Amino acid sequence: MSSTASKLNLLGLSQDDLEQVFVAHGEKRFRARQLMQWIYQRGVTCFDDMTDISKTSREWLNAEAEFVLPRVQSRHDSVDGTIKWLFASGSGQAVETVFIPESGRGTLCISSQVGCALDCAFCATGAQGFNRNLSSAEIAGQVWHAIQELPRRDNGEPAVTNVVFMGMGEPLANYRNVVPVLKLLVSDLAFGLSRRRVTLSTSGIVPLIEKLGDDCNVSLAVSLHAANDELRDEIVPINRLHPIATLLEACWAYAAKQANRFITFEYVMLRGVNDSRAHADELVELLTGKPAKVNLIPFNPFPGTQFKRSSADTIRHFQTRLRQRGLVATTRKTRGDDIDAACGQLAGKVSDRVRSPLGQKKIADKKSRKSNIRMASA
Ligand code: SAH
Ligand code: SF4
Repeated sequence: MSSTASKLNLLGLSQDDLEQVFVAHGEKRFRARQLMQWIYQRGVTCFDDMTDISKTSREWLNAEAEFVLPRVQSRHDSVDGTIKWLFASGSGQAVETVFIPESGRGTLCISSQVGCALDCAFCATGAQGFNRNLSSAEIAGQVWHAIQELPRRDNGEPAVTNVVFMGMGEPLANYRNVVPVLKLLVSDLAFGLSRRRVTLSTSGIVPLIEKLGDDCNVSLAVSLHAANDELRDEIVPINRLHPIATLLEACWAYAAKQANRFITFEYVMLRGVNDSRAHADELVELLTGKPAKVNLIPFNPFPGTQFKRSSADTIRHFQTRLRQRGLVATTRKTRGDDIDAACGQLAGKVSDRVRSPLGQKKIADKKSRKSNIRMASA
């Protein structure tokens, strides 16, 4: 992303921060709100085109502020209508954004980090390692760009009706830059989506789930993937810091703050690892009677992975078992796999990776103890 060092990039600034900028110039706060509407609702980024902003304001805006979008490096279109953009994120690196059109809605899956440090065993982003957090401008810019580039719906609304933080990175690990974007997504002055249509997916950084509930309680999806600590420690290493019981406690507290709206639990179906009837029953024990939905995700393979996708029959039986025992369970349809845009296939381009202490711990642990992952022979 290129930016003029001396100018302030207004993209991604929270309403509060933008109001502060106007107040610092002796202007009324509502001027900031007018500017937000120009940028996010009308897609106008040239200050001189903002007709209700005074000439004096435009002068200091032109001198001191700018609107810098992340640069689009490429766009790929899938045969099923899914679109993937690569956004340049400096030093030859890139992050990915995916648009998934469905009847009645269009979901944009956005990235929050260049790579990810949390090192989940089955994830292409995790396998790339971590480079850096995206700025609020780089995160909001993905949404702004998609809305401006995609044709509007028949009803005149933007093509993007839902936004999910399910691209590259762990959004709660970049809390400081993600929260202002969440607020813009649900602000009537900016992207104007309802909280139900904005979903943050996390592998389970418990203290930040608690904080998020106070700061901006959008819909929450939690990458559970295993219903016992022994297995989850292996495939979702953050579980060693925040085990399942504490994670679920935070989830129920989060749901309670939203009038017990459901938390979605993502569960990637890995052949012979977490997909037996006993695993389904374990999941039922954890979630019965709670505001929980389960979303099964067929594993999407990527080069070098040790895992395989559970068969269609196994996934169907697993889902049926959950439903028979009273859980709400769906299976995510795989979209965009011809352009490597399916869940967990987003690798972007990550170089100069920095290993997290957690990642190093995992590697050390691997040397000293036998893996708990038991895969059935294929
Ligand atoms: N870091 C966040 C959000 C990004 S990943 C998180 O982990 O929740 C979005 C979802 O895709 C998560 O549920 C993640 O576990 C899942 N996922 C990762 N790799 C996958 C793969 N190879 N196949 C299917 N789903 C995968
Ligand atoms: Fe990171 Fe999520 Fe991938 Fe885990 S699944 S490595 S938290 S992006």
